[in-house]
Amino acid sequence: MEANIELDAGRKTFATGLLADLIAELRRSRPGDLLAVTSGEASVGAGLEAWCRFTGNSLVASSVESGRTRWVIRCGATPGNPDAQHALGSRLWLYTNFDCNLRCDYCCVRSSPSAPRRELGLARIQRIAGEAAHLGVREIFVTGGEPFLLVDIAGILSACAAAAPTTVLTNGMLFAGRQLDALRALPRDRVTLQISLDSPTPERHDRHRGPGAWASAWKGIERARGEGFRVRLAATVSSDAEAEEFRRFLDERQIGEPDRVIRRIALRGVATQGVALARADLMPEITITAEGVYWHPVGAEDADLLVTREIFPLAESFAAVRRAFEREREHANRLATIFNCA
Ligand code: SF4
Repeated sequence: MEANIELDAGRKTFATGLLADLIAELRRSRPGDLLAVTSGEASVGAGLEAWCRFTGNSLVASSVESGRTRWVIRCGATPGNPDAQHALGSRLWLYTNFDCNLRCDYCCVRSSPSAPRRELGLARIQRIAGEAAHLGVREIFVTGGEPFLLVDIAGILSACAAAAPTTVLTNGMLFAGRQLDALRALPRDRVTLQISLDSPTPERHDRHRGPGAWASAWKGIERARGEGFRVRLAATVSSDAEAEEFRRFLDERQIGEPDRVIRRIALRGVATQGVALARADLMPEITITAEGVYWHPVGAEDADLLVTREIFPLAESFAAVRRAFEREREHANRLATIFNCA
């Protein structure tokens, strides 16, 4: 991960002057900048973690090379987290597969036509849906990769919809032939389509997603609406100006708040720019993939967001996420007590 500022700590630790260097570097940073700290001293990692939690900065990545560790810190608080209002466990995310017909340059899970499928599978999804119905799940989100690449996507979505209202995230480009038949088989009152459209005109969308992608997505949006589905438009943007431009586009078409999602590019997966997010920045939204249970969909293949490799029983994997969340909160509370100044 590239950083705006590199700090080689040499032999310094928090006990021998590293804190002063950190503060000096922070003073010349802007909110959202990435500060990398490299050290071979074993104690620096735990100290940085505690310092970040206390100061409102976030430790977003670490890597080891030639016996030295490089930590990357995002300066300042993360931009507002729109997920924070959802109760833990009320929304369940399923990654059906990781392959995709597109190769977007910011994909947070590295999906592409050549990515291994890593399928969750209909049988497991049926079991998840059955158990989720008794665990307080009020909404299911099905994502990938591109879910409509799967031949059994109609069965998958029907199983989810029987348990809770279901939204499927799709690039909307595959609604023809067999996939159109799959779409038509779905219950309109229980399934919403969330289709990606990054900009009002093709240029920016296609720059990230490939030539012709905007026109094809727009056709998919119209087709899904024509089939009687509720369609939510989701834009991934890299600045406030892009977000505002997309908002105007939606306003002109009288597309209301419930049917729009505008989010920033996350610095995860293949993205080289975007908002760097750490676990502590994200309210957990239980996310299940073929590889296990993750803290949040935005990093559903990243080791720092893996909670457990055991999916079943689902009640136990939900409990594991809750325990991890409690540990995060306890840690923050303990630091607040340790650093209490009066
Ligand atoms: S961002 Fe979505 S459409 Fe693009 S490669 Fe990733 S999964 Fe596919």
